[in-house]
Amino acid sequence: MRESVASLDGTETGGLVLGSTEFERIEIRHAGGPGPRARRTASTFDRDLNHAQLIAADAWERDRSQWIGEWHTHPHGPLAPSGRDITSYQAHLRDPDLGFQQFVCLIVGAPRDGTTPLTAWIVRPSSIQPATLVLDEEE
Ligand SMILES: [Zn+2]
Repeated sequence: MRESVASLDGTETGGLVLGSTEFERIEIRHAGGPGPRARRTASTFDRDLNHAQLIAADAWERDRSQWIGEWHTHPHGPLAPSGRDITSYQAHLRDPDLGFQQFVCLIVGAPRDGTTPLTAWIVRPSSIQPATLVLDEEE
């Protein structure tokens, strides 16, 4: 999550989360950067969809990882998806070309005293739930 340091300038940043989903088990294997055309402000982060699709194709080639969600920072705000975040995830869920059943959302807070807070959420067409992250030290 080195990319989140970019949000020290006070604007949001983020990128793709890639891995696999099998029933309730979601495995996150890679996280991408924001892409050259992402637009960042203090409270919004507009994804660079082209960049996203390139990274997703790459991850699939590498280890069959799929685009399962995204991470972004909330340098100032609560560590929960905003109304605008949810609207954009639900648009992804409705897009038949993307084929999402659910969308993983990781929110990174401002680093403080050498630690960085991180929350995880699972967005489905009619619900949004907090999720628990388990770090696998083996990998
Ligand atoms: Zn947000």
